[in-house]
Amino acid sequence: MDIRRRNFLRGRFSKKDSIILMPWVNDRATFHATCTRCSDCLKACPEGIVGSDADGYPGIDFRKGECTFCGQCTKVCSHNLFEEDLARPPWDFVATLSDQCLTQNNIACQSCQDICEQRVIRFHYSVGKVPQPNIVTTNCSGCGACVAVCPASSISILSASAAPNLTTIKQQGQIHVG
Ligand code: SF4
Ligand code: SF4
Ligand code: SF4
Repeated sequence: MDIRRRNFLRGRFSKKDSIILMPWVNDRATFHATCTRCSDCLKACPEGIVGSDADGYPGIDFRKGECTFCGQCTKVCSHNLFEEDLARPPWDFVATLSDQCLTQNNIACQSCQDICEQRVIRFHYSVGKVPQPNIVTTNCSGCGACVAVCPASSISILSASAAPNLTTIKQQGQIHVG
């Protein structure tokens, strides 16, 4: 079995894999200096989407599912790494589309729209083309539910502050370690 596939199934990521930090992380810049890599947050996540990178630090892999914002990962951490007030926004991440989207090759697909509970993925109709998706990022929670269902792997989760021009499908986005 391919080593990346094996690591993925074990919940491990290589440096090339796409992970982001958990929601409500207090200070992303200093997270790695304080996290002890105890893995308590991995075990606590009921969705099974928290894995560890090649250095043992935790992160979310949306290929395995979506974040429900239950806050379990934040509650088990005893190192003051997470925001205590879970009523605050969990992060500023939003979904972005790349031009790998099947509709860019005139292949009809609406899988992402069907799974988005926030109803922020809208399709636009024009003559001679299959409907084209667009994400209204102002109401996107960054839950990541749309990532795994995309057959073309064209959806990524990005920090809104790091992603210019987010509402255009031409946006090339890569999930990054947040
Ligand atoms: S908030 Fe809940 S679903 Fe999201 S990563 Fe943490 S434990 Fe998992
Ligand atoms: S529970 Fe806290 S210290 Fe332990 S791995 Fe998770 S974030 Fe790091
Ligand atoms: S990240 Fe969640 S809220 Fe945002 S477009 Fe995808 S499914 Fe919808």
